[in-house]
Amino acid sequence: MEAYDSPAFRMACQQFDAVADHLQMPQAERPRLKYPKRSLIVSLPINCEDGTQKVYTGFRVQHHLTLGPTKGGLRFHPDVTLGEVAALAMWMSWKCALTGLPYGGAKGGIACDPHRMAPREVERLTRRYTQEMIPFIGPQVDVMAPDMGTNEQVMAWIMDSYSMHMGYSVPSIVTGKPLSLGGSVGRREATGRGVAHLVARAADTIGLDLKTATVAVQGFGNVGSVAALTLESYGATVVAVSDVSGGVFNARGLDLEKLAKHLAKERTLHGFTEAEAITNDQVLLTPCDVLVPAAMERQITGDNAGRIQCRILAEGANGPTTPEADAILSRREDVFVLPDILCNAGGVVVSYFEWVQDLQSFFWSETEVMEKLYRILDESYDRVLHSSRSRNISMRTAALCAGIQRVREAKAIRGLFP
Ligand code: NAD
Repeated sequence: MEAYDSPAFRMACQQFDAVADHLQMPQAERPRLKYPKRSLIVSLPINCEDGTQKVYTGFRVQHHLTLGPTKGGLRFHPDVTLGEVAALAMWMSWKCALTGLPYGGAKGGIACDPHRMAPREVERLTRRYTQEMIPFIGPQVDVMAPDMGTNEQVMAWIMDSYSMHMGYSVPSIVTGKPLSLGGSVGRREATGRGVAHLVARAADTIGLDLKTATVAVQGFGNVGSVAALTLESYGATVVAVSDVSGGVFNARGLDLEKLAKHLAKERTLHGFTEAEAITNDQVLLTPCDVLVPAAMERQITGDNAGRIQCRILAEGANGPTTPEADAILSRREDVFVLPDILCNAGGVVVSYFEWVQDLQSFFWSETEVMEKLYRILDESYDRVLHSSRSRNISMRTAALCAGIQRVREAKAIRGLFP
């Protein structure tokens, strides 16, 4: 599977192999479970606002189709590669299986910087990508959702492009849509609120009072900002946050409302004067009770894992912690890790609710959505914690074991076609 070779894919494979070893899975069984089912690479020419044409590269990887359609986000970021998308698709598989959703994992991406493009260019690129993906996606085949660099508007363009092709409205082709197009209440906030809810569970587990707790968040986008605001509403004090431009710190607590206003106006945290400017690396090393990486993969590494100063590491991002860092953290009894496939699962759980509501054309209240979300997250947390403690394995190994085992069982019982 050399086509996928990349740091993120190697990391996902390394995690898989460690869990397979733990499960004493025969070598012969591993490749079918580990490698993506299929992938599509497309070139995407668009007309730019300055009159020139530019060609972008887009990807979609479907990891397995054993349990139902595939599900996973669409990322717009300059560093997107096939290998990164494949790693993210694999993690989606284990996440959906861990939380009991009837999906395999998928992920997509376009190597582009949406913040440096005109909105009309982003729209053309999204529509062209959707057009190229038409043979590869569908409400019963593969359902996209927002991820880094994409949002409700992008989902609306995908839904519109797909519906124009079909000749009728197909809201269930994507989740994370605006409410007016069949989105679900609570979807935009689901990942960040889920992170905060699980942080509260973890705080109970280790005897930490969130009302006196301090929080540092790397990445102040959808996941990071909602996690920060929700943790603040639980009584915690957010002392540091960052985005791609760098971080800000205030030991007495940041004014998140002012920060959000600054961000809405400037589109960057840079230049926020009511706090001390710090680097992204410093945000990760800030002394705090709860550290939420909510940006990119591979941020907590063998280099800094020994120096992070938190009691709960709540992985809002996908793949923020490398296996080398994991080895260090497993020896640090002072840090409780909420692994990504559990910690940020709120997003895909409410995406699943949105898909179900769209298929039924019957919509739920916010109370129903949140009550169902927290029930699934609580049940998953309890199962992972119990497995971690009873088998003396890390929370990450316990979560991955549960996800991988479910897919493994489904593949075994379905048998091998033909
Ligand atoms: P977003 O685009 O809304 O926000 C990303 C944030 O990270 C921005 O503040 C950006 O400036 C910052 N950032 C980007 N590169 C950075 C870097 N090198 N250093 C520091 N900050 C950086 O994206 P999002 O939807 O909040 O996703 C964030 C993470 O959460 C990703 O790993 C994504 O895969 C994961 N995730 C998202 C969802 C979801 O529902 N959106 C669900 C599960 C997991």
